[in-house]
Amino acid sequence: MADAMTAREDDTAGVGTAIQATTPPSRSGPPAAKHPSRLWLVYLAAGAVLIALYYQVPVRVGGFPLRVVLYCLVSTSAAAAVCYGLLRNRPRPGLPWVMIAASQLVYAAADGIFYISHYVFDVTEYPSLADLFYLAHFPLAVVGLLLLIRRRTPGRDLPGLLDAATLAVVAAMLSWLYVIGPQTRRGSPVLVELGSLGYPVMDLAMLTVALGLILGSGSRPKAFFLLITWLAAIMTADTIYVLQQLTGNYQAGNFLDAIWLTGNLALGACALHPTMRLLAERSPVPDAPLSPVRIAGLSAAALVAPAVLVLQWAHGSVRDVPVVAAVCALLFGLTIARLAGLVSDQRRLAITDALTSLHTRRFFEAQLPLEVARARRSGGTVAVLIADVDHFKTINDQHGHPAGDRVLVEIATRLRSTVRDGEVLARYGGEEFALILPNAPADTLPLIADRLRERVAGAPIAISHEQWVSVTVSIGTAVYPIHGEDPHELVSLADRALYAAKEAGRDRVVVGPDPSVPRTETTDYLHRTADEVDRTLSSYEHSRAIARWTKLLATHAGLPTESVQRAELAGRLHDIGKIVIPRAILTKASRLSPDEWALMRAHPDHGFRLASVVPGYADVATIIRQHHERWDGTGYPDGLAGNDIRVEARLLAVCDSWAAMRSDRPYQAALSEDRAREEVRGGRESQFDPDAADLFLDLHHRGLIGQLNLIQHPEN
Ligand code: GH3
Ligand code: MG
Ligand code: MG
Repeated sequence: MADAMTAREDDTAGVGTAIQATTPPSRSGPPAAKHPSRLWLVYLAAGAVLIALYYQVPVRVGGFPLRVVLYCLVSTSAAAAVCYGLLRNRPRPGLPWVMIAASQLVYAAADGIFYISHYVFDVTEYPSLADLFYLAHFPLAVVGLLLLIRRRTPGRDLPGLLDAATLAVVAAMLSWLYVIGPQTRRGSPVLVELGSLGYPVMDLAMLTVALGLILGSGSRPKAFFLLITWLAAIMTADTIYVLQQLTGNYQAGNFLDAIWLTGNLALGACALHPTMRLLAERSPVPDAPLSPVRIAGLSAAALVAPAVLVLQWAHGSVRDVPVVAAVCALLFGLTIARLAGLVSDQRRLAITDALTSLHTRRFFEAQLPLEVARARRSGGTVAVLIADVDHFKTINDQHGHPAGDRVLVEIATRLRSTVRDGEVLARYGGEEFALILPNAPADTLPLIADRLRERVAGAPIAISHEQWVSVTVSIGTAVYPIHGEDPHELVSLADRALYAAKEAGRDRVVVGPDPSVPRTETTDYLHRTADEVDRTLSSYEHSRAIARWTKLLATHAGLPTESVQRAELAGRLHDIGKIVIPRAILTKASRLSPDEWALMRAHPDHGFRLASVVPGYADVATIIRQHHERWDGTGYPDGLAGNDIRVEARLLAVCDSWAAMRSDRPYQAALSEDRAREEVRGGRESQFDPDAADLFLDLHHRGLIGQLNLIQHPEN
């Protein structure tokens, strides 16, 4: 790969070719220069030669201040390189680099003044005009870097800056205790003191933004490391400089010049590097992860403060308690702020659907009871809308799952554009969306729902550059208190209205109970009974999940529509017979006695009798009766085997077993998915119809069965 790139670069290809190749095509900047990757290297090499020369040549050669000229040549070259890089690489935005270029110009001017006054005029006053310039370069650089950070992580740089602040606070404390404090205690003239305080204070500001850059997220091309080298070199040399000044050891022209000059070169090389314009690219991830290394680093930094106190105590001079205590308090505040950020991130993730960024079903189900309770208090209304994409399976089948995902994201975007403050839009299931509309006037609800439907169907959805698909949704709605009283009933009614919309031809809205399915007090009672049984078993969603899965299996098994409907309804009502079994037996953790077991085994028959009461439910009742029959004929109540068991009951049996295995029961903790899969596989031909078991495992493998978090306790 690298060879291929190098070959394309013609015969001058060299170091940095790969960098150039990974640089995205320039967007608004000039066409890539012929050998952009070499210039920064040439610059670094030439600079290194100049630094070496600087230490070799005498201060003056025939009266000419050669060393000064060499020194200033390097620092000025860095300013020139930043200006040149700015023009050549055209970073967007340019302002951060203009500030950095200005800062380096001021810095070079400071060098010029310092060395000329020192070597040419032999003036060694401190502080001098040079110090004013040196100090003035800091704010420009800090502002430039801050602008860069904001650009890299717009609005999301807080965690990185908090981490940076934590380290900077510790550095500030050390600086105060060992640099600034001793400085203030020396009783130097005010100007000297101000000058000497200025450097550590400015360095701290620089350190904070440098840490923000390092600890924040964002791209890290070569230019990034050159920039960091610049900052590290300048801050290191400045710190040593102040310490040497404090101890009277500073000698102009000592090794510190090499560090400063190297820093200057790194900045110049950074600006010349072709990846310089990538430094302002927006980070694709919100913030840098809180890795173990980072946690360890932050913890170690926070321990420095108490460690200082212990050291002072060991040396018998506990002197800086107020400063260290203040630092500890500050660090505590920063830690709490960071934790609060993490907690709010986690909460956001928990209630946000990963694919569509809508709310999750969990959030929807938590909000609905609150809205209903509020409406109950205020005498208002709450509408629930459930939208299901029509023939979505076909889109997946014809264009693939990723295209299906794109369609779901676009539908979510379209639905979101209609939602107002106070309304809750959630991804309710695979291709189902649910909306809570507080205080929706019942008479305009059909219009609102139809607008939603039209918003989705209004324009085809792009699934690739040249392919579009037309998508429609069916919507069912129900309103508190007109159609139902409690949240579960509302969802159930909206779901049935949706079902009616599908039956009536799809791409339409049905408000309230489905007129085509006779809704009677008895059918409502059966649904409530199913909920009551689920509640008793402390897995409220059980029967609803079974209904969905059984429907899914029946659809994928290619059963006729009526059979799919029966399967779904039987799934929902399969356990209603348990309502007559004493709660103590249902929730008993220990082994059932033979009598209790006999009672338990009667529930399919009880369910059959209850469902048989409803006109037209004869088939559903039969499926309920058969849902504990086994493929090998050892099930109950009738000991049916193989194809004598209705196909819907065979599908239901797998789903029921799966839900039981995957949820905590009084007598058994939930099995892992792998264990449960093994059980289903192991039950082929004995407990389960092998085709039903295989179909279930396949759908589960494809991620269509969903997690049992769908099963929730009503209080949650
Ligand atoms: P109907 O009009 O009756 O609703 O038909 P349908 O095909 O939309 O309904 P069905 O329930 O048979 O199929 C829903 C499909 O949605 C099945 C599954 O493949 C697909 N699906 C569920 N979740 C996702 C997902 O996250 N991504 C994709 N691409 N497909 C999903
Ligand atoms: Mg669906
Ligand atoms: Mg659908």
